[in-house]
Amino acid sequence: KTSNYDVVVIGAGGAGFSAAIEAKNAGANVVLLEKMPAVGGNSLISGAEMNAARNWVQPKLGITDDSPELHAQDTFKGGDGKGDMKVINVMTHNALDAAKWCRDYLGVRFEDDNLFFFGGHSRKRALIPVGHTGTEFIAKFQAKADELGIPVITNMKAEELIKDKDGRVVGVKATMDGNTYEFNAKGGVVLATGGFGANPQMVKKYNPKIDERFKTTDAPGTTGEALYMAERAGAELVNMGYIQTYPICDPISGVIELIADARFDGAIMLNQEGKRFVEELDRRDVLSEAILKQTGGYCWVLWNDKIGSISNTVKEHPTEYEAFTKQGIMKTCDDLKCIADFTKIPGEQLEATIKRVSSMAGKGNDKDFNHRSGLVDMTQGKYYVIKAVPSVHHTMGGVRINEKAQALTKEGKVIPGLWAAGEVTGVTHGTNRLGGNAYTDIIVFGRIAGKAAAEAAK
Ligand code: ADP
Repeated sequence: KTSNYDVVVIGAGGAGFSAAIEAKNAGANVVLLEKMPAVGGNSLISGAEMNAARNWVQPKLGITDDSPELHAQDTFKGGDGKGDMKVINVMTHNALDAAKWCRDYLGVRFEDDNLFFFGGHSRKRALIPVGHTGTEFIAKFQAKADELGIPVITNMKAEELIKDKDGRVVGVKATMDGNTYEFNAKGGVVLATGGFGANPQMVKKYNPKIDERFKTTDAPGTTGEALYMAERAGAELVNMGYIQTYPICDPISGVIELIADARFDGAIMLNQEGKRFVEELDRRDVLSEAILKQTGGYCWVLWNDKIGSISNTVKEHPTEYEAFTKQGIMKTCDDLKCIADFTKIPGEQLEATIKRVSSMAGKGNDKDFNHRSGLVDMTQGKYYVIKAVPSVHHTMGGVRINEKAQALTKEGKVIPGLWAAGEVTGVTHGTNRLGGNAYTDIIVFGRIAGKAAAEAAK
C-alpha cells in the first residue's frame, strides 16, 4: 500500500512530535510513524527536565548571569570537546524559545519556582515539568497532534528509506504485521527514532566495556535499527562508542531511580563502608565509574526530610517509592541506626559520615569533595536510603547532522530529503550528554527538521 505525504516523520518521541507539529504548522501534510504499540519512547520515561539559559524561573532563584554562550560552553566541555560547537550553539540559542513553545503553545506545565542543577552545568538552568517525568510533555504532544489532525500510526516500523535516482530521500518503506507500506514524502523524511541503549548487542559492539553486566534505563523500542537504515541511505554514523550510563538506577530492573533525584538538593552517595567517594553533582560518567569501583559495584543514596522537602521526590514519585520499598532496595527510617541495620553499613562510620557532612553544610564548605551547591545538615531524620547502580542510559553517537538538522554523508555532503533530530543524531553531546540537554536537543532540532522538511515540499 502506498500513500502520499509532504513529510514523513519516523519515531513518536519528543523529537518526532516536535517535527511533525512544526511541519504541519508550516502547511505540510505530515504523518508520524511509530514502531511500538504506544508513543513516547525514551522521552516519555525521562525525567524530562529541560535546560534553557535565561529561563523565567532563574531570576526567582537569583540567577541573573546565565547565557546561551555559557550553556554552550558547559555542553562542549561536558562532552570533552567532542561535540560540534556549531550544532551546540544552535541548541543553546534556541533553547529558551523551544521551552516557551512547549509552555505557551503545547501547554506543558513547568514548576515555576524550582530548577534542577544537573552535573556539569555551571548554572542551575533545567526547567522541571509537573510530575518530573515526560508524561507531561507526551500527553501535550499527543493532544496537539490530535488537535491538528496529524495521523500517528503506531505498530508501524520504518525499515528502509527510499531514494530517487538523484539520491534524494523521497519516502519510507515500513511494515506492520508483516505487511509492507510505502509512505512517499514530497519534502522529505525526518528521522527521530532515538538511540540504541536497549540493544545490548549493539551497545557492546560499539563499546565492548559496556557488556552484559549492564541493564538499561531505556524504553524497549530504543534498539537503534534505524541507525543502520540511515547508514544504508548514505548517512555517516559518528561517536557511536560514546555511551552514557546513568549512575543511579535500580539494581534489579535497571530503570532510573527518579526518586533519588533528591541528590540534586543534597542527598549524598555512600559506599558499603559508609563513606562518601565522589562529588554527588559530578558528571554522570564520573559518578558511574566511581560507583563501579566501590565494593559490590553499587552505592547507597541517602537523604533526610530537610533535603527531601526541597524537590519532594518521594511525594512526586509515589509509585516508585512504593515499588522500591517493596522490592527491598529502599527504606525510610526515623534514625540512622535503622539505616545502618537495613544497609548493613557499619553504624559508627555512618554516624561519623553524617556528622562530618552536617558540619560542612552550606555552599563552599565541603572540604572532602567540594559539593558544588553545598551539603545539607543531615543530623535530623526522617532518612531515606536507596541502593543504586549505573545502567545504560543514553547513546551520544548517531547520524552526523549539520546545524540545520540535515543528515550528512562521510564526505560531509547533505543527503537531500533527509533530516534527523534527537537521540538518533550524534554530534551534539560529545562523549557525555549533560542532564537536561536531551529535551532541549530533541525539541530544538525536531522543530528545525520539521519546518525544513515542510519548506522543501513547497
Ligand atoms: P527522542 O528523545 O530522540 O525523541 P525517543 O526515544 O523519545 O527519542 O523516541 C524515539 C521513538 O522512535 C521511540 O518511540 C521508538 O519506538 C521509535 N522508533 C525507533 N525505531 C523506529 C522505526 N524503525 N520505525 C518507527 N519508529 C521507530
